[in-house]
Amino acid sequence: MSASNIDPVKLTQSLISCPSVTPTDAGVLQTLQDQLEEIGFRCTRMPFEETGTEAVDNLFASYGEGAPHLCFGGHTDVVPVGNSASWTNDPFDAVIKDGNLYGRGTADMKSAIAAFTAAASNFIKTGDFKGTISLLITNDEEGPAINGTQKVLEAITKNGEKIDSCIVGEPTCPAQLGEMIKIGRRGSLTTNISIIGIQGHVAYPQWTLNPIDALTKVLSKIVDLKLDEGTEDFPPTNIEIVKIDADNTADNVVPHSATAQINIRYNILQTEDGLMKLLQEITDQELLNTEYKSTIEFRNSAQPFLTKESDFTKKIKEAVDLVTGLNSEFSTTGGTSDARFFKDYCEVAEFGLVGSTAHQVDEHVAVKDIENLAKIYEEIIKKYFN
Ligand SMILES: [Zn+2]
Repeated sequence: MSASNIDPVKLTQSLISCPSVTPTDAGVLQTLQDQLEEIGFRCTRMPFEETGTEAVDNLFASYGEGAPHLCFGGHTDVVPVGNSASWTNDPFDAVIKDGNLYGRGTADMKSAIAAFTAAASNFIKTGDFKGTISLLITNDEEGPAINGTQKVLEAITKNGEKIDSCIVGEPTCPAQLGEMIKIGRRGSLTTNISIIGIQGHVAYPQWTLNPIDALTKVLSKIVDLKLDEGTEDFPPTNIEIVKIDADNTADNVVPHSATAQINIRYNILQTEDGLMKLLQEITDQELLNTEYKSTIEFRNSAQPFLTKESDFTKKIKEAVDLVTGLNSEFSTTGGTSDARFFKDYCEVAEFGLVGSTAHQVDEHVAVKDIENLAKIYEEIIKKYFN
């Protein structure tokens, strides 16, 4: 066992220097595994693949035995750098300048993995404890998320592993470390509505049936929906049209078909089935007694969930407030994360760094924030096993 403390900033830099753009792991899992094995974690690599998707490697590392079991959920993969010429420094050089650490994956979310590793190491050194600390790290969160967290959870559960509580280290704070803890997320339903009409010459509308006319009527009904007012924990369900396409390159042709894509971010007052039924009904109603034909496809990528305020969420808040001096807020805002998979196995909350530069050019976090995040995680672990 290593006697010296793990420096979370240095470990972050090592992780950043591996260009692990999904699904490539570029040595990042091995870098982390080496560090975890040095402090006594049992590490298992869990690669998964599925037809039509890229094979992805994952890492499950655990220390201790039995309950209670606290797991840290994270991902080592990063989004592409975008226009690399726009970066001030190489996105994988992990440069520190003016108190900030720059690089792809600093905010989202290699720093949090390093911070948790340092925190766990410090805690383990203080002596024996009853229970298990683990890290479930995937390299498939930013991509399709098919060969990652979900499959690892299935596999370790089959092996008899039982996680009681999980903290996901996504960047949850809008501007200042300690502002926000996420205790739930909205669901996400994508819908493609296609309407088929009769193609023809725009000068002879009597022989055509314009699918755009029907589609815009359907869409106006959908955007006017007021589904709910939200709850104490969730904002109102929101519908956005994200794409409209008639695949038409001519100005003198009424197109054959028109398609719109809609994304709904919904709270726990709605259900996937209920929303699908509603969109189908609106479309059918509008096209009733017409010659239009339609098809609707749905893809639900996340169910909404809420972790009720509990002993676990209370301990997280106490740790965050203690280190930062702030009065942190519980929130359910933002996009989806792998917490959507953990929620089927255990109580889950999310806390991490300031995420304002995540996925951007010159992504960065404050060095001080990485150090404080390690302190916060250490407090959480202490309170959890106390
Ligand atoms: Zn992330």
